[in-house]
Amino acid sequence: MLGTALHRGQLLSPAAQRACAFASALGASPVSSVLIARRSLASSVIVGMGGRNSKPQERNPSQRGDRANASTAVAAPTEPAQAYDALCERLKEISSLNGIAGLLDWDEMVMMPPGAAGSRASQKAALAGVLYDKETDPQLGALLEALKAAPGETLNEVQAAVVRDAAREYVKKTALPKELAQRVARLKSEAYAAWVKAKTESDFSVFAPFLQQWIDVSKEKAKLIDPTKPVYDVLLDDYEKGATSARLDEVFTQVREGLVPLIADIKSRGRKIDESWMAGEYDTDTQAELCRKVAIDIGFDTERGRLDVSVHPFTGGAHPTDVRMTTRFKKENVVEGLTGAIHETGHALYEQGRNLSYDGLPVNSALSMGVHESQSLLWERMVGLSQPFAEYLLPLLKERFPERFGSATPDQLYESENVIQEPSLIRVEADEVTYPLHIILRYELERGLLEGSVAVEDVPRIWNERMAAYLGAAPPNDAKGCLQDIHWSMGAFGYFPTYTLGAMYATQIYAAAEKDIPDLAHKIRGGDFKPLKSWLNSKIHSLGSLHNSGDELMAAVTGSPLDPAVFLTYLRDKYTHLYKL
Ligand SMILES: [Zn+2]
Repeated sequence: MLGTALHRGQLLSPAAQRACAFASALGASPVSSVLIARRSLASSVIVGMGGRNSKPQERNPSQRGDRANASTAVAAPTEPAQAYDALCERLKEISSLNGIAGLLDWDEMVMMPPGAAGSRASQKAALAGVLYDKETDPQLGALLEALKAAPGETLNEVQAAVVRDAAREYVKKTALPKELAQRVARLKSEAYAAWVKAKTESDFSVFAPFLQQWIDVSKEKAKLIDPTKPVYDVLLDDYEKGATSARLDEVFTQVREGLVPLIADIKSRGRKIDESWMAGEYDTDTQAELCRKVAIDIGFDTERGRLDVSVHPFTGGAHPTDVRMTTRFKKENVVEGLTGAIHETGHALYEQGRNLSYDGLPVNSALSMGVHESQSLLWERMVGLSQPFAEYLLPLLKERFPERFGSATPDQLYESENVIQEPSLIRVEADEVTYPLHIILRYELERGLLEGSVAVEDVPRIWNERMAAYLGAAPPNDAKGCLQDIHWSMGAFGYFPTYTLGAMYATQIYAAAEKDIPDLAHKIRGGDFKPLKSWLNSKIHSLGSLHNSGDELMAAVTGSPLDPAVFLTYLRDKYTHLYKL
């Protein structure tokens, strides 16, 4: 996929519900979320989810070939230092080409006139073909083989990580035979169209045959990439490096068991929080100016990035020195625009913070989608939706919207920003408490589908049963149930878990920051975000993908692997206080 990835919720999502949807090469979907994509190989740039005119795209299959085993016939420098230099040269070139692709994506979503859709599609396909040839070049494979065979101490830690990540991508790029790649490309378009129709008509049977095809094709693909691993784990690796379904089971079981009773408790005993005072109209130009100020206060560097408005908010661009971030605003909801802008700023800071000592190499890109999302959610939720931030924000709101905020208190703002939605039927509209259960339900279903324990035709029934069990609400129809998300129409199995992993990483990283940075809450209250941004730059951003997994990164930064108890304690404490349980 051409590096679109997305995060943050649909254009539609209320404040607390930034979901990230996937869109990848997929172009604009009606869902309109933004994606963050890990661009293949070196230049991982985040891109948004599809432009207004874009359509599902895949690299031109006619340009794909069966090159998987070709590398053995090609000579490569045998001296490791030489081989490493030759490898880096190739990876940097691929990174630059990916940067160009990122710029084309941004242009398509922000600036391009609608009439250019056709020519842009041709340009992107041509560039994708060039990239594919570079990424699957047998010479690249030969260099990787030579370096993998080099003695253990030959490469330092960073060099070893470069070889590891490049080799991993090379295997994936070269694993699929041309015929399968062509089937995947065709299915992408057909399944997407079927999903749109099924959702419009709220008729799962229209989409079901395509979902079955995606499952079959994905199993085939996973077996070609790594027949020794469970299918789900191979697919998951595209989004969350180093994660396994066994580990997800462990983590998600704990989260589910902690959240179901908390939500029931809030529903049965929680007080009612009045947020109606914030309803009204907010001038969108004033919102844009406010969001720009907040993004810059937090640390977005306008010397190395641009802020624009787009239909689908996203963060993308060409390079860590050229990060393109977009937001959008709704007249009737000032909080949604603000939290959206803060969310994207978190993604943008990660991109701007990439380590330029390793420019163009895979080790300087994001570790995973989950870790990327941890950076957006840390700023959005741990900072932006906190009480100290409300104290920073309220005077800015009073200044711009005195009629609505003139007599408000920081506590009132804080409480109203953190209302739990009820009923929670739609993922991208879900709040931070109910959101993880939406993800767990999808994870259980997609894994069951791939392992054979869930049949396609049973998806609507199981979906509705689990919604009732986990969230106490059953959807009125499939459009608002199992057809609501775009992901499965794109065959993106393994994407969903990264949203909740990101939320958990964010909580654990923030807890570590609070220990390291004296008076962090006080600093946030005063609008001094620099200590936190610098801390994240050095602890997370500059490390890139050096570590093998999110768990390893958590251990390095916080002292222990991902611990769901930290996330559960944060939610329980926050909402016990807010809802006076
Ligand atoms: Zn996001």
